[in-house]
Amino acid sequence: MKTEQIEKLTHFINGKKVEGKSNRYGDVYNPSLGVKIAEVPLASKEEVDEVITLAKQGFNEWSKVSVAKRMDVLRKFRDLLAKNTDKLAEIIGRENGKTIDDAKGEISRGIESVDFALSAPQLLKGEHSVNVGGDINAYSMHKPLGVVTCIAPFNFPIMVPVAMSTMAVAVGNAMILKPSEKVPFSALFLSELWDEAGLPAGVWNVVNGDKEAVDALLEHKDVKAVSFVGSTQVAEAIYEKGTKHHKRVQAFGGGKNSMIIMPDTDLDHAVNSFVGAAFGAASQRCMAISNAIPVGKETADAFVAKLKEKIKELKVGTFDDKNADFGALISAESKESVLKALENAIEEGADLAADGRNPKVKHPEGYYVGATLLDHVTPDMEVYKQEVFGPVRNVVRVDTLEEAIDLINEHEFGNGVTIFTDSGSAARTFTENIEVGMVGVNVPIPIPVGYHNFGGWKRSSFGEGQMFGPDTARFFTKRKTVSERWPDTSYNESKTDFSFPNN
Ligand code: NAD
Repeated sequence: MKTEQIEKLTHFINGKKVEGKSNRYGDVYNPSLGVKIAEVPLASKEEVDEVITLAKQGFNEWSKVSVAKRMDVLRKFRDLLAKNTDKLAEIIGRENGKTIDDAKGEISRGIESVDFALSAPQLLKGEHSVNVGGDINAYSMHKPLGVVTCIAPFNFPIMVPVAMSTMAVAVGNAMILKPSEKVPFSALFLSELWDEAGLPAGVWNVVNGDKEAVDALLEHKDVKAVSFVGSTQVAEAIYEKGTKHHKRVQAFGGGKNSMIIMPDTDLDHAVNSFVGAAFGAASQRCMAISNAIPVGKETADAFVAKLKEKIKELKVGTFDDKNADFGALISAESKESVLKALENAIEEGADLAADGRNPKVKHPEGYYVGATLLDHVTPDMEVYKQEVFGPVRNVVRVDTLEEAIDLINEHEFGNGVTIFTDSGSAARTFTENIEVGMVGVNVPIPIPVGYHNFGGWKRSSFGEGQMFGPDTARFFTKRKTVSERWPDTSYNESKTDFSFPNN
C-alpha cells in the first residue's frame, strides 16, 4: 500500500496558524488511495471560546471599515481564488477524492458567489422616506450581526464554505468557519488567501473540530448567527440547539432528488444528463439525481436499456486520473454504508440492473464504488426513502406525470428535482405543482447561479432564508430604522405630548 507523509494540521485564528491544545485529533485520508495523510486538531470548548473573543475584536475593527475598503479586500480574495485554481483543485481532489475537473467546477461556482458578494454595497442600501411627519425623515440601514459561524460539509470543501461565508464577511461580520474534519486542507488554504488579500486579523478564523467545537459555537452568547450545511439529521439538531440559544439559524440538509423522464423527450439526451447528474462526484452532491422516474412502460424500458449501456462506459479512478468520470467515496465507512444500502435494496426486491460493487480500479485500497443502478424500486423501499450518498441510483416506474409529481411531493426531502420533456404544458404543470425548492426543466442539476437564492424545502432545510443570493445578505444583517427630525431654527416645540406619536 502506498503511504504518504502524515502532516499535523493547525487551526487558523486571528490571522495565524495555531496549534491545537486539546490533544484530540481526527484522521484525514486521501480517499483515492485509502491512506491517512494528516491529523487535524479537534478544538475544545475552551479553545472555541478563545476564538470567539478574538473574533469579537476582529468584528469591532472590520465593521467600521468603509464599504469601499471591504470590497477592495474581497476583490483581491476573488482574484487569488482564480489565480490559485489549479493548486486548490489539487488540494480538494487529494482530500475529497473528486476529479480535478469536478473540483475546478466547484471553485468556479465559489468564485461566482464572491462576485455576487461584491454587490454588498447595493444590498446594504437601506430605504429612505422624507417628510413622513412634521420635519421627520425615516431611513433604514442593514447592520452586521457580529461574530457568525458557518459549519460546512465534506463534499464541497471550497464552494460551500466560500458561498456561505463571503457575503457574511462582505457585510461586516467576523467569521468562524468550522469545516468538515474530513477536508481541513481546503479551509486552511482559504485562510491563507484571505490573509494575502489583506483581511484584518480576527475577521476570518478556521476552527477545526467535531461536535464539541460545534456545541461550543452554538451555546456561546456572542455567536449571533449559524449557517449550517450537512446531513438532515445534524441540520435539524443544529437548528434546534442554535435557536434554543437565541441564534439566527439556517441549516441545509440532505436530499433525494428525482428526474422525471417524459415520453416526448430525446432519450439519448436524457440518459446523458442523468448519468452526469446522478454519478458525478461519486453521487456525493446534495443536488445529485437519485431517482429516475420514467413515465410509461415504453419510456422506462427504453431509458433503462440505454442507461445500462452508458453505465458500462463509466470509469472510476483517482482524483488526478484524467480518464476517470468520478472518484472514490470520502471514507471507508461511507463505502460500507453505501454497499449496505445496496444489499438491503436487493433484499427488499429491487432489480440490480448495473452492479458497481467491484469496479476496475488501479488502487483497490481507495474507497471506490462503481455506478450501480436499481430498477423497479418502489416508494416503500428504504433505498427510495433515505439519502444514499454514493453511486447507487434508482429507477422508479410510474404511469403518468401526475403520479410522478404526487410521489415526489410525498417524499420527506425537497431539495432538487427536474423534468425532461418537450412539452411546455407538462413543464408548466410540473413547475407549478412540485413541492421542491430548486426545480429544473431540461436542466439536470438545477443549482441556481450565485445571484439567485439556493435552498431546499421540507426536511432539506430548517430555518428561514436561503443561501448564495440576496437572502445571504439579509441573513447576516439586521435592520435598524431611524426616524429623525431636524427642525428649522424657527421651530419651537414647547408642549409635552403624552399621546402615542402620530403624524
Ligand atoms: P455531516 O452532517 O456529517 O457534517 C456536516 C458538518 O457538521 C461537519 O462540519 C461536521 O463536523 C459537523 N457535524 C457532524 N456531526 C455533528 C454533530 N453530531 N453535532 C454537531 N456537528 C456535527 O455532513 P457531511 O457528511 O459532511 O456532508 C454530506 C451531507 O451534507 C449530505 O447529507 C448532503 O446532502 C448534505 N449537503 C447538503 C447541501 C445543501 O445545500 N442542502 C450541500 C452539501 C451537502
